[in-house]
Amino acid sequence: MYLISSREMLKRAQKGGYAVPAFNIHNLETVQVVVETAAEMNSPVILAGTPGTYGYAGVDYIVAICKEAANKHKMPLVLHLDHHEDFSDIQAKLHAGIRSVMIDGSHYPFDENIDIVKRVVDYCNRYDASVEAELGRLGGQEDDLIVDSADAAMTDPAAAAEFIQRTGIDSLAVAIGSAHGLYKGEPKLDFARLEAIRNVVDIPLVLHGASGIPDAW
Ligand SMILES: [Zn+2]
Repeated sequence: MYLISSREMLKRAQKGGYAVPAFNIHNLETVQVVVETAAEMNSPVILAGTPGTYGYAGVDYIVAICKEAANKHKMPLVLHLDHHEDFSDIQAKLHAGIRSVMIDGSHYPFDENIDIVKRVVDYCNRYDASVEAELGRLGGQEDDLIVDSADAAMTDPAAAAEFIQRTGIDSLAVAIGSAHGLYKGEPKLDFARLEAIRNVVDIPLVLHGASGIPDAW
């Protein structure tokens, strides 16, 4: 069994009207509990690691652990690069066997974000790896990335459509009111904005910072 890209997994989910959970894993134990639970529930799953995770555990160790988990449970797994920014770092991780990439250029101006993402998409195509990018900015903290709520910005639907058309990404992370890490107050998701984005965008959409969102939403 093996590590796969998220492309077909997310397309199937979009067609079937369900979401695929992505869990940030950090070590052997977190990989075990996530994969065991997903296998029990017969759910597709994405294992996400930030640059900090791979730096801590070592890329080869994480890849080996996830391959073994896929093998043990007889299910292909997506091992994902969460919030990666460095091109040569992404290259090295593709070489190590990872096939699912998030390139986060969301803190750059629109055209610059497109250039950064397009370069990664072109490279990932050689490996048949899927690419997620982000437009708009989430507040909160992820790894050592801290975004003040004043710098957080919602995703603009028209810009999202142009962004996808110009980059060729497989999935888009949208900012509609969720935040990374702990919420300071009750999160408010902008469903009207989400619907407006969905109306002009046909690829799978990704919601980061979902753990703190109440079940009622
Ligand atoms: Zn995130």
